Order: sequence, then C-alpha cells, then structure tokens
Amino acid sequence: MGSLPSDAKLPWIETPCVFSPPISKAAGCNIYLKLDNLQPSGSFKSRGIGNFMTRAAAAQPSSGPVRFYCPSGGNAGLACATSAVALRQPATIVVPTLTSAMMKQKLLDLGVDVVQVGENFPAADRHCREELLAKDPSGIYVHPFDHQHVWDGAATIVSEICAQLPDVRVDGIVGSVGGGGMINGIMQGVEAASWPHGPKPRVLAVETKGCDSLNASVLAGEHVSLPGISSIATSLGATRVSEQTWRWSQAGNMDGVVVTDADAAISCVRFADDARLLVEAACGATLATAYAGYLRLWLGEGLSDEEWATKNIVLQVCGGSGVTLEILEEYRKTYAAESSIKV
Ligand SMILES: *Cc1c(COP(=O)(O)O)cnc(C)c1O
Repeated sequence: MGSLPSDAKLPWIETPCVFSPPISKAAGCNIYLKLDNLQPSGSFKSRGIGNFMTRAAAAQPSSGPVRFYCPSGGNAGLACATSAVALRQPATIVVPTLTSAMMKQKLLDLGVDVVQVGENFPAADRHCREELLAKDPSGIYVHPFDHQHVWDGAATIVSEICAQLPDVRVDGIVGSVGGGGMINGIMQGVEAASWPHGPKPRVLAVETKGCDSLNASVLAGEHVSLPGISSIATSLGATRVSEQTWRWSQAGNMDGVVVTDADAAISCVRFADDARLLVEAACGATLATAYAGYLRLWLGEGLSDEEWATKNIVLQVCGGSGVTLEILEEYRKTYAAESSIKV
C-alpha cells in the first residue's frame, strides 16, 4: 500500500448549516440551508469526488504519483482539479469543445492539464478513456457520480447536518438529482444516522423538466434513459440515473418532484437577494421547492398554517460554478414573467 504525500490535504470542508429567515418566511416552515456552495470547488462535488480520489491515491501500490482523468466541462471537472491540487497529484480534465472559455480558464488557473476535444460529453469521455487512460498505466478514471466512494463522500452531508442540528427534528432533506450521486449519498447518510427526535427524514429528489431522468424512470416503473437533455440546468444533464438511484427511489422515504427551468432560474435570482449567494440553476431547482410552494404539498398535506410552521426542512445548497451576475440578470429578463416566484 502506498500513502498520500505528507502535505496532502482533505479536498472538502465541513460547511455551515444555517437557519434562513427569508426562505422560512417564503416556505411557511423552518428552512435550514446546508451551504455546500462554499466547498473549495464551488459545489458539493468536492465531497464525493474528493473522497473517491483520496481513497484511490492512498491505495496506489507504487509510491509514484497517479494521474486523475475526468471528462467534464463542469463542476465535476472543477472538483477533480481542486481535489488533485489538495492531494498533490496531477490531473487531466477533458472538456468538450462547447465548454466556455471561463470554465476552461478556471481549470487552467488551478494548474491542471486541460484537453479540449469532442463536440459533446460522450465524445470527450470517449477520448478520455480510449486515447488518454488506455495509454497511462498510472491513470485513474474519475466518474462524476457512479461509484460507492463518491456516495460515501456525499453521505457526509447528512452526518454533518446531524452534528450541526442536534436539537432539531429534521422532517425533510431536499437535493437536486443529475446522475444521482448526491442523492445516493444523502439516502445512505439518512439510513446510517440516528434520529432521536422523530422518524427519519423524508428525502425529496428534485429535477428540472428536460433533465428528469429519475422521474421518467419512476413514471415508467423501470430504470429508463431519456433520449436527450433540454434544460438550462446542465449540471443535472444525465440521461440516465445510476442503478443505485433507481433502487433508492423505491425506498419508502424518497419522493420526487420536477420543477420548470423558469422556477429554477428565478430561484437563483431570489436567492442572491435573500442569502446574498450565487448558485447555478441546478441548485435553483432545490431552492424552487421552497419558493414555489412544493414543500407544503410534499410534507404539509392537511396541516394548518400553525402546524406547518413547526416543520424543519434542510435544503442542500449544492452550489455550482456556472453562474455570474450577468447570467442572473439574463435569467431575470428571460424568466420573471413565466415564473410564479416573485423577484
Ligand atoms: C453535479 C451536480 C448536481 C447533480 O449531482 P448528481 O450527483 O449528478 O446527481 C447538482 N447540482 C450541481 C451544482 C452539480 O454540480
């Protein structure tokens, strides 16, 4: 067994879990924000990908460095790059040609190698596996969501929530779903934790229309793939969720909801004002459940306003780097009229 360099650091941090007065007011119940937008890479992906890479680097039999390869022009690539820097290991991020100059520059600034090739994600992924990984015996492939060690890393979201809210009866935890790595970790964490104040929380899996691969499977009654992706929440753009996500969706305490692009986008704008934080549309989808009244439909059926006000729900603020003030301004112009959420 090898070991990590002595100056290696953990690639993720414990993030705050804070009560939000304005979002609680909007939802009508107590809303806590798990602020994973504060992770070193800008999203929760630091947890799962960081854990996967830490384990892989530590398990390498030779003492020489490994090289991590991640096909992604998005938050997975950023998480791989920041984790590689923390672990003092080299990384190659393979991004499709449509990846923005901003995203490419963010990766280069971290000091990793960037290869830009292929029209879309599958093409970049193919190049990554067939041209690069196949020729590098010390190469390690970093999957954005489908690995037990990724889920183990994401499960720390829940163990932190338990430690941070020891006196709170958590009724629900809400998170967005792309390939399902994050929600797998949340479900795993909910099972592993003990809940002294009441039954274990229900979990709400949120997708945007056009990225609703989990919902399509639930409706079909079997694990299916979408023919394509059409949503501004590109970080949720997996045409098929992991097998494990499909299995969890049949567990008793998981529910699902699909929100519109307009509601996800406008939630990002509202959140900038309410929390003074910038997150991308993939995260806005989760926030929309509070702003657009979905939470009450989910856990408040038959309750009076007073009863509903005692419920405690944690929103997993997954974050994301695909956002700027300019993008939010664009969202406001494009979607304000269409969305039921006021800005
Ligand atoms: C990747 C990502 C998701 C979806 O996570 P999965 O593990 O693929 O389900 C949600 N939000 C953001 C910001 C992401 O980067």
